[in-house]
Amino acid sequence: MPIQTSLTKLLGVRYPIVQGGMQWVGVPQLAASVSEAGGLGILTALTQPSPDALREAIRETRKLTSKPFGVNITLLPTINPPDYEGYARAAIEEGVKIYETAGNNPGPLIKYFKSQGCIVIHKCTTVRHAKSAERLGVDVLSIDGFECAGHPGEDDIGGLVLMARAAKELKIPFIASGGIADGRGLAAAMALGAVGVNMGTRFMCTVESPIHENIKRKIVESTERDTVHIFRSFRNTARVFKNKVAVEVVNIEHKPGAKFEDVKDLVSGLRGKKVYETGDPDYGIWSAGITIGLINDVPTCKDLLVRMEKEAEEIIGQVSSTVVKAKL
Ligand code: NAD
Repeated sequence: MPIQTSLTKLLGVRYPIVQGGMQWVGVPQLAASVSEAGGLGILTALTQPSPDALREAIRETRKLTSKPFGVNITLLPTINPPDYEGYARAAIEEGVKIYETAGNNPGPLIKYFKSQGCIVIHKCTTVRHAKSAERLGVDVLSIDGFECAGHPGEDDIGGLVLMARAAKELKIPFIASGGIADGRGLAAAMALGAVGVNMGTRFMCTVESPIHENIKRKIVESTERDTVHIFRSFRNTARVFKNKVAVEVVNIEHKPGAKFEDVKDLVSGLRGKKVYETGDPDYGIWSAGITIGLINDVPTCKDLLVRMEKEAEEIIGQVSSTVVKAKL
């Protein structure tokens, strides 16, 4: 029996699984493959060089799938300030109905999308931010635990406690993000009260992901000990793959009085983009969650979603039978 939740109903998708926004990775090819496979694919707006390029990406995605997909807009510090409003307007004018928002001061963006009758999934890393997004009228929260790739916030609360707190405190549905890469994670998220999951790193390592094969292989070979936090001293913490550049950044940050300017050239997203293009894992900074310890293969998006649902159902069944046996 398919796992159906209020998320699958709201989004009109087969699996309660969302592919979260990922800089340089959330492109039409991947978003369309996830949606075609029955999850919710998401285009990352800032990966496109301009709002007009985002329009093109949306049209390209529509050519690849007729199923629902969304657009991510993340509001975090950037080296060159993007035209957030322009990206948002372009996506609305292209008829996109589902948005993933994330980052600082999302109020105006959320209000804009809601005023256009859209579904908003807001990603945040604390229960207090989740509650304020709930007041702003978002439809679903994507609660991002400390395990996640990219920006986990500054509170360092692991998913187990964060999701249980979310289940107690929130009135609207939430999906679990950070640390999920398999059916066990999906079953655990649902046990914690989530109506689905959001995955990033796991989708990076699929056949349809646009990144270089060497980087996919690197993810498969790595363990959960191979990530590191950078930008802690700038209050913009990011979990990235622990490569030579990341270690250099952390060493610079440890020097007294270190400023973002001291690491700016090393961490530029354009260098990270080259990692995915050339396959050189040490060329720049690239995001990775600790789920790299759980990722051992490069499946198609479809095979991944089918397998995750099957595993989750088996685990849910095993847990129920263990409880029944224990009672006898
Ligand atoms: P970029 O080249 O502008 O910056 C590289 C990194 O430095 C980013 O992590 C950024 O947050 C950080 N940064 C920039 N200026 C900073 C400052 N003044 N103080 C502290 N940190 C600073 O970033 P990019 O790779 O072009 O990505 C664009 C934006 O998208 C960034 O904000 C990035 O964090 C964000 N992002 C979004 C997703 C997503 O899920 N959509 C994933 C990864 C990154």
